[in-house]
Amino acid sequence: MATRTYYDLECSCGHKGKVKMKENDAPFTANYESYSLVGFGGGTHYVEPHCTLEEAVNAMKPTCPTCGERVSI
Ligand SMILES: [Zn+2]
Repeated sequence: MATRTYYDLECSCGHKGKVKMKENDAPFTANYESYSLVGFGGGTHYVEPHCTLEEAVNAMKPTCPTCGERVSI
């Protein structure tokens, strides 16, 4: 099983999107977190066993599709 969690991400121009975090919560398997962006350009981030939301966002380098700015939290 994997749990999905969404975090709000907002650009200074007002554009809103989300950070999606998928987390393995099955027993007896490796813990991991997999991050992706919804509504923003940028990459994805996979980490074992876990990292902070800030580290994940820094690694994905989200960019705003409206104004082109880098977005951070
Ligand atoms: Zn923007």
